[in-house]
Amino acid sequence: MDWADELAASVSGPQVINDSKTPSGTVHVGSLRGPVLLDVIVRAMRARGLETTYLYGVDDMDPDQESDGHASYARHHAQIFIDIFAGLGIRPDRYYWMSEIYPTGEMDPFIRKALDKAALVRDIYRRVANVQHPDTWHPLQVVCENCGKIGTTIVTGWDGERVAYQCRPSLVEWATGCGYTGWTSPFGGRGKLPWNLEWAAQWSLFGVTIEPCGKDLATAGGSRDRSDAIAREVFDREPPLNVPYEFVNIGGKKMSTSKGHGAAAHDVAEVIPPEQLRFFFLRPKPNQAVEFDPDGTDAIPRLFDEFDRFAAATAGREVREVLAARSRGRRRR
Ligand SMILES: [Zn+2]
Repeated sequence: MDWADELAASVSGPQVINDSKTPSGTVHVGSLRGPVLLDVIVRAMRARGLETTYLYGVDDMDPDQESDGHASYARHHAQIFIDIFAGLGIRPDRYYWMSEIYPTGEMDPFIRKALDKAALVRDIYRRVANVQHPDTWHPLQVVCENCGKIGTTIVTGWDGERVAYQCRPSLVEWATGCGYTGWTSPFGGRGKLPWNLEWAAQWSLFGVTIEPCGKDLATAGGSRDRSDAIAREVFDREPPLNVPYEFVNIGGKKMSTSKGHGAAAHDVAEVIPPEQLRFFFLRPKPNQAVEFDPDGTDAIPRLFDEFDRFAAATAGREVREVLAARSRGRRRR
């Protein structure tokens, strides 16, 4: 993994490597590419003697997209996904759930800063992403005190302690707001930052130094650009190093389980052994797209053949570690 060794050689000091996921249903196998790449980066860092922490988060603060009162919907799918990691030799040092972080108050300083600098945030969206928010728009959503939903509320004012908000019936397609308007405290789990701000706040909160992201987030004016600008200008911090990576495609298109397009990660992990599955993600460089159709007649046999060819070609050469023994022996010193 030359690219990971080069990355490790280019940094110094303790490293915090972060990845997070917003599950909106069954997670497809392509989503494993990020965790596998991060695991390789972590191993490369530790092989160079760098103290390295691997964080994996779930953005589940507003999980009830079905509006069926089943708050653990995102959590359920995220847990099934996370449960695959250990079998692949991926062992983050810490998992965090944003639905647990917000109530602790740890996000409150970032919520306050974002609200204090609402005009600057609107300006960043306009400059970086060409998104024009109304002058009353504030970068926060709060839990409606009447109906309990978050996704349906918009914040229109901020007096330094409380926010003015509206619960709008037709703000989003997947839920109907109740029409309530009022003032409430945004702190202690009653408010949630929009994704771009939440991401930038995570970098500050956890001291993240490296965070790879999928290419859909890394486009010009996209999520990463917005969060980078928010980190610098709103939270006064340099964003982490990015390692953009390509998609896993099926039939030339990005896998997407919401479109019924791609195979569930946990199903594939049951069929393909860990060595071959890791090999599948790591054989190409991060910036190369991979095509995979597990239902295709020869996709899996081809993967095994290629793995065997590589294994034969490297037989007898020095191997840095073997998969099963790796991360346990390499815990932080
Ligand atoms: Zn409401």
